[in-house]
Amino acid sequence: MAGLASGRYAGESPADFDAGHYNLKLQVRNTVKKWVYFFGAGKAEGDGEWRDLLGGKGAGLAEMTKIGLPVPGGFTISTEACDYYYKNGKKYPAELAKQVKDNVAKLEKAAKKKLGDPKNPLLVSVRSGSARSMPGMMETILNLGLNEKSVQGLAAVTGNERFAYDAYRRFVQMYSTVVMGLSKEDLEHRLRAMRDRRGVKGDTDVPAEGWKELVAEYKAYFKEKSGNAFPEDPMEQLWGAIGAVFGSWMAEKAVTYRRVEKITGLLGTAVNVVQMVFGNTGDNSGTGVCFTRDPSTGDKIFYGDYLTNAQGEDVVAGIRTPVHLTELKKMMPKVYDQLEKVRVKLENHYKDMQDMEFTVEEGTLYMLQTRTGKRTPAAAFKMAMDMTNEKLITKEDAVLRIKPEDIERLFYPVIDSKFDKKTLQAKILTHGIDAVPGAAVGKVVFNAADAEEWAQRGEKVILVRRETSPEDVGGMAVAQGILTATGGKTSHAAVVARGWGKCCIVGAETLNIDYGTKSMTDGKSGKTIKEGEWLTLDGGEGTVYADRLALVTPEMPKAYQTVMKWADEIRRLKVRTNADTPQDARKAIEFGAEGIGLTRTEHMFFTDFEFPEKSHERQRAIQEMILAETKEARVKALDKLLPFQRRDFVGIFNAMNGFPVTIRLIDPPLHEFVPHDRAKQSELAKELGISVETVARRVEQLHEANPMLGHRGCRLSITYPEILEMQVRAIIEAAIECTKNKVKVLPEIMIPLTLDKKELGILDQSTRRVADDLIKKSGIKLPYMVGTMIELPRAALLANEIAEVAEFFSFGTNDLTQTTMGLSRDDAGRFLPDYVDEKKAAVFHGDPFQTLDTKGVGMLMKWGIEKGRETRPKLKVGICGEHGGDADSVKFCHSVGMDYVSASPFRVPISRLAAAQAVVEEKKAAIKKGKRK
Ligand code: ADP
Ligand code: MG
Ligand code: MG
Repeated sequence: MAGLASGRYAGESPADFDAGHYNLKLQVRNTVKKWVYFFGAGKAEGDGEWRDLLGGKGAGLAEMTKIGLPVPGGFTISTEACDYYYKNGKKYPAELAKQVKDNVAKLEKAAKKKLGDPKNPLLVSVRSGSARSMPGMMETILNLGLNEKSVQGLAAVTGNERFAYDAYRRFVQMYSTVVMGLSKEDLEHRLRAMRDRRGVKGDTDVPAEGWKELVAEYKAYFKEKSGNAFPEDPMEQLWGAIGAVFGSWMAEKAVTYRRVEKITGLLGTAVNVVQMVFGNTGDNSGTGVCFTRDPSTGDKIFYGDYLTNAQGEDVVAGIRTPVHLTELKKMMPKVYDQLEKVRVKLENHYKDMQDMEFTVEEGTLYMLQTRTGKRTPAAAFKMAMDMTNEKLITKEDAVLRIKPEDIERLFYPVIDSKFDKKTLQAKILTHGIDAVPGAAVGKVVFNAADAEEWAQRGEKVILVRRETSPEDVGGMAVAQGILTATGGKTSHAAVVARGWGKCCIVGAETLNIDYGTKSMTDGKSGKTIKEGEWLTLDGGEGTVYADRLALVTPEMPKAYQTVMKWADEIRRLKVRTNADTPQDARKAIEFGAEGIGLTRTEHMFFTDFEFPEKSHERQRAIQEMILAETKEARVKALDKLLPFQRRDFVGIFNAMNGFPVTIRLIDPPLHEFVPHDRAKQSELAKELGISVETVARRVEQLHEANPMLGHRGCRLSITYPEILEMQVRAIIEAAIECTKNKVKVLPEIMIPLTLDKKELGILDQSTRRVADDLIKKSGIKLPYMVGTMIELPRAALLANEIAEVAEFFSFGTNDLTQTTMGLSRDDAGRFLPDYVDEKKAAVFHGDPFQTLDTKGVGMLMKWGIEKGRETRPKLKVGICGEHGGDADSVKFCHSVGMDYVSASPFRVPISRLAAAQAVVEEKKAAIKKGKRK
């Protein structure tokens, strides 16, 4: 705020703008740019659609004026003026001064009052407002135009001196704090002292004399702090306020808000100058806020608060408790009826729930604001469904109304709403970055091994780490929630947890974690938590509570099912899931998945999800296979793995009864399966009956400088064909078993990291040899497919050749992003934030591992699909990277003609919605284009 006070407008007198007038006269009349838009008396120069130009508030005022609602007159200085201001070293456009002056004159004429008139003064409010609502960006200045003379005029013309000076003290306070950046606390302290002196409790009991006294004190304070007398000239006041609104656009909190909310591409804020109407003239006046429907349930009831004898900000400030609208109905039935009519008119007009502000002056209603109201996820679904049934909107509109976050937040458990704010506040341990929403409760453990051990005993745990690494995945999987002291939304912990839909908070930087003593202390709150103590995470807010709080799972509302059914009717893309276990597969089906787009067979090497106690046996078998020195020994080890894999596939095929299942053959480099520390190596050596040196040597041999570009993917199957043979055998034998049990199976065998047709051809032949032989022997008919992942640029470029062999493509966009951009996902956390930050480089709009880089990576995908289908017109194409669960990326997949996307189970509904939105948006764009022609 100090910056505002020293800003150039503070010292500017209206005279400075006369130079601007002079310049204006030199310009050709009809090329003068319009910066100011008037509204009043049923007419408006602006339009309700021009939110970008007039801001949300300005557009709403113009629109309400046009449809005949009672709105006080005024004008809006456009966001273009704000843009000009910042692009020209904080100078106003030359024409602005005259346009403001002209519009003030126009407003004076319409209001039949003059600014600063000592007899019957016009007062105005000065209000900010950008295209996107930014709560708390700048406070509004009310009652502007009052000075020592006009306040007497106001008192005389209303016959209400107390009211006039109440308005005056409010203005002086707002101007001092908002425009000059003086301390609000200092001023309110004087207000309280004055009340105490006079022995009155509430503001409504203060007599005129009290307010007069306070105004004098405020002004003295103003002079002392700013060195200047409080401005008496209304035009000087007005320019001070305009400058403050523009200044607030770049204030720290506004910039931060835009960054956090990812709001980009706005020109700036508009300035609305609106004739004052008064809710503080007595008991026949008041002010209120209302919603056309209940924003928390979505029910079609008129919902709102009203405060008698009060001005604007009193309702929100919570100084006095407002009453419900039903009380207003009793107090002023006529006004209520009128408001009810406004409610109906506005909702029919905007075809969405409106959040409105109004004021009653001496029994007359005025509308001061309308905007599309914020709502809870449950209310979003309820309103979309109801409004469709009421024929206010179409099913397509309903689908567009839901945001991906609405779905996300609907599923996750939340902290029971029985806790009040104060109770919660007292329990806060620390804050971090809200990586994955939802809430989690458990006992604290500080390493993954402990997490697994505790979970085995049936304990609910929260895993707390400075950061997580792939070794922690087992512990992360069994934890209720994950908390890290470092990292951002793209850190390992965040990415892994998001895939599971597991509550996760990262980057709680004030946390001091001591692995030695198994405890942590927060630098800010000073609280210490030891292993085994309870913690509750609120992943939606990034808040950590040092207590065990009750959680509730939100109920899936009926409206959710209905709207999602509409989405399914509309979409063209199929939605599959990424699932490695029968449990995940079943969960995904509940969420509406239509098959599996990716099963990672290597996860089965680590964990036996059905019989956890057998996990060790699997791990030993795979390690034995890796350490084997001869093919014979390797095959022997693989034979041990075969029954495990076969059983897993049977489980998955059963869960997916009739839906296609894509199974990827072994993908990660082998070193990921063997222990690197000496103790574990010797344990392994003992169990396998070989020397620890042999183990160490073999592990050493597996070391690679760039494992992600090394011996992995299908390259493993080229070197060790027996691995592929075992996996194909497990898949096909499972499929045969299921088919015999009357379960319909559609296996799609997928080869990872392919880069050449010849390479794929070799593996395709081995696969078919094993599969066909088994099928022939079984005597049943079993259709299956062999295809490949496209995750290297070379594979995308040579898609026409690869499609000669592959029956389907699945874009592995995690690796494809990594290899196309030369960007390591595991290391990007160090610099990616700078690449996304609006205040720094802002090279990318967002994290390319979260939302597809449609420009670069997308170009390869498009090319790959086109070329692939030139060779094989019916080529089936899908995506199985993280992006398959990201709404914007799904829309891209639709636009390039994919057949399906695949997402982790929790994100399946988001993909279903996005796929439907893609269809509707495409249709709307086509209509718009048609109109333009
Ligand atoms: P916000 O963006 O925080 O909603 P507003 O510009 O809407 O800020 O104004 C804050 C309060 O002042 C609101 O309650 C509004 O109704 C009231 N207000 C704004 N302009 C006027 C006016 N011309 N007459 C009476 N009250 C007003
Ligand atoms: Mg408002
Ligand atoms: Mg890959």
